[in-house]
Amino acid sequence: MIDSKDFRKHAHDFVDWMADYLENVGDLPVKSQVNPGEIFSAIPDEPPASGESMSTVFEDFKNIILPGMTHWQSPNYFAYFTANSSYPSVLAEMLTATLAAQCMVWETSPAAAELEEKVMNWLREMTGLPSSFEGVIQDTASTATLVALLTAREKFSEYRINETGYSGNEHFRIYCSTEAHSSIEKAVKMAGFGRANLVKIETDAALAINTDKLKQAVEDDISNGFTPLCVVAALGTTGTVAIDPLQPVGELCEEHNIWLHVDAAYAGTALVLPEHRYMIKGIGMADSFVFNPHKWMFTNFDCSAYFVKDVGALLRTFEILPEYLKTGSRGKVNDYRDWGIQLGRRFRALKLWFVIRDYGVEGIREKVRNHIAWAGELAGAIREHPEFTLFEPQNLGLVCFHYTPRGISDNETLNRINSSLMQTLNSSGKVYLTHTKVNGLVTLRMVIGQTSVTREHVQSAWKLIRETASELN
Ligand SMILES: *Cc1c(COP(=O)(O)O)cnc(C)c1O
Repeated sequence: MIDSKDFRKHAHDFVDWMADYLENVGDLPVKSQVNPGEIFSAIPDEPPASGESMSTVFEDFKNIILPGMTHWQSPNYFAYFTANSSYPSVLAEMLTATLAAQCMVWETSPAAAELEEKVMNWLREMTGLPSSFEGVIQDTASTATLVALLTAREKFSEYRINETGYSGNEHFRIYCSTEAHSSIEKAVKMAGFGRANLVKIETDAALAINTDKLKQAVEDDISNGFTPLCVVAALGTTGTVAIDPLQPVGELCEEHNIWLHVDAAYAGTALVLPEHRYMIKGIGMADSFVFNPHKWMFTNFDCSAYFVKDVGALLRTFEILPEYLKTGSRGKVNDYRDWGIQLGRRFRALKLWFVIRDYGVEGIREKVRNHIAWAGELAGAIREHPEFTLFEPQNLGLVCFHYTPRGISDNETLNRINSSLMQTLNSSGKVYLTHTKVNGLVTLRMVIGQTSVTREHVQSAWKLIRETASELN
């Protein structure tokens, strides 16, 4: 077991390793190239009976674990959405791990509670959200959406389901588009609504929710005895970053007293740029809003910013007060235990505070603006290319496209070619990108949003894609 003296030595070594890693991560194969089971079989079946030296453990980390890691902080990472990080965020995580505090109520760590309140206010200002919202950090957008659905359920059932459970006479309906994230369906299942009561609304050509169809579905449900409870609008779908129009959706929700939850997990970060605030026209009608600083705002996973208008409803849904949690400060300060699902909470506000202070709002803006500009440039090049087809509208830092070599037009062949193009690119270790399906077509997705990505990385990825495609043909 290491003692304080060894800890100091290893910590210094680790920091050197961390700095080297982050400087050179672009040289590693971005997607891990191991086969299933390879790491599992490299680790002994039995735990060590007596302690091993930290140097041995660290060697194994480098030799066994590292090859089995996909390098999300590589500037050649263009897959899914980024889960980006940054130096100030990592530094804060080191301190958080050292303090190892449970931040469940104010008294168990007053600074954590008060800093959380403050940085959530900062985020609200930075993204142009209305001051009627109050924020709390959740672990993920999935959790935040579940929290929103549960709060809506309680508010509109007069807090009865929490007390006596479902009576069987509730006929709640939840709505989202066919392009909405899978976490909504999961939350609907967990909240006990039943998946059959999640109404997936068709989208328009831009893959945003078709508001006429939404209106129709809500009205049909009302005439059939259902209670429309919640609409989850996507501000940036995962597939193509389609933006559901909040204004008409919000008006419909106001008219029928429906909770409007906005899932802006990825796109919310772009709201730091005033020129992208068109996306939240109508936000005043929303009841809750979530975005993930852990995707695009340089803050280590996990850190999801959840904003809610009716904090009273949130607290009434989640608060519990066993004797052992009673404290003298109740009512004067925020006890975040009552703002979500879990009791124990990490000190997540610290890393946000470090990131925002290190970059400054302008620093964050500059990076995000660059990402969006480089994505736009790439989109332009793809649009011009005779053998590639760009999916439009192209939004924010995501570029969706597929390879359409001359003379090939049937979907099945195109899908096969595009899947194998993606596979070849990813197994080269030089880039990592993923795909979605648009109208039955395998469509490659390139997300420009990694903290250390530069214009050159985007351009060389595009060059590699063109070369690999023509070799494949
Ligand atoms: C990534 C994503 C989510 C899920 O985010 P988690 O924080 O991993 O739960 C939800 N919705 C959208 C639109 C996303 O892009």
